[in-house]
Amino acid sequence: MCGIVGYIGNEQAAPIILEGLSKLEYRGYDSAGIAVREGDSEIEIVKAKGRLKALSDKTNSGQTLLGSCGIGHTRWATHGEPSEENAHPHCSDDCCVVAVHNGIIENYQELKEKLIKKDYSFYSGTDTEVAVKLIDYYYKKYFGNPIDAINRSMVRIRGSYALAVMFKDCPDEIYVARKDSPMILGLENEEAYFASDVPAILKYTRNVYYIGNLEIGKLQKGQITFFNIDGDEIQKDLTEITWDADAAEKSGFEHFMIKEIHEQPKAVSETLNSVLLNGKINLSKAGLTDDDIRDISQIYIVACGSAYHVGVAAQYVIEDLARIPVRVELASEFRYRGPLLDKKGLVIIISQSGEDC
Ligand code: GLU
Repeated sequence: MCGIVGYIGNEQAAPIILEGLSKLEYRGYDSAGIAVREGDSEIEIVKAKGRLKALSDKTNSGQTLLGSCGIGHTRWATHGEPSEENAHPHCSDDCCVVAVHNGIIENYQELKEKLIKKDYSFYSGTDTEVAVKLIDYYYKKYFGNPIDAINRSMVRIRGSYALAVMFKDCPDEIYVARKDSPMILGLENEEAYFASDVPAILKYTRNVYYIGNLEIGKLQKGQITFFNIDGDEIQKDLTEITWDADAAEKSGFEHFMIKEIHEQPKAVSETLNSVLLNGKINLSKAGLTDDDIRDISQIYIVACGSAYHVGVAAQYVIEDLARIPVRVELASEFRYRGPLLDKKGLVIIISQSGEDC
């Protein structure tokens, strides 16, 4: 899960969004994208694989994307390879609904099959495109009410998400919703912001709203309105962020290491969520059946640096629980030394950065 940032106000949105995304770069990502519009003009989408700089270069630091309303995303692929096609924002075929998403839609396969039966086509390998088309489906079915469409989709979707949606028919409005993925909203005079983490918007505002699970926020110039899953308006209090920019990057913790230690329960549950099917671990997406798993004779864990130490910890746990011998190998040596691999062996490669070892 990486970053999302959005803005609506009197300034140009793209440079603010690109700057916000750059503050979230430390979380790692594989691609980035942005959608911007001015008033009721077409929503313009630009995406790029790789560093945020590639997106920034494509848009001349945001200068070529004109509009005061927009959403942006840095992606850490969970479903579908890192590519420009899979980068967010994703949109419905007629660009009626455009959205970015952090998180994982667990039941995306089942929802996708239902939508295909309703004549929807899919062009990416992402779970996100399914959420976007589900919102589009309800939006059209129930006569163009964004809150209603998002609420109906939230009832259907299982998993975690911080979603930001623009509707072609609703100029100067951005809708956001979340469940189990972080999101904050900021307000300052005529400007409204959202982001997955405080540092992205701290330069512009210290006044934030925290949005709860299964709640919706509607952002307009200088105004944010909240709704519950029944579509009823709810009231929230603004909170003032008192940390300085440096502390905010660490969510108020003294060091990144302490922050990451506190994030561990969430990181573990999100990792498990990606392989859960109906509440049970299912590795079929990784091409492993139960029989394949029973057949494993030897496990090789290949990793570098701190990921190597994770491998050593995993070795103790796996050998203890599964009674299968585990070897932990340094990735930098592994590829050069012609290792003797058992045909029924399983190789697990760990990369904390997401890069090739
Ligand atoms: N699951 C989505 C994808 O793979 C979102 C990943 C993210 O949080 O960046 O595109």
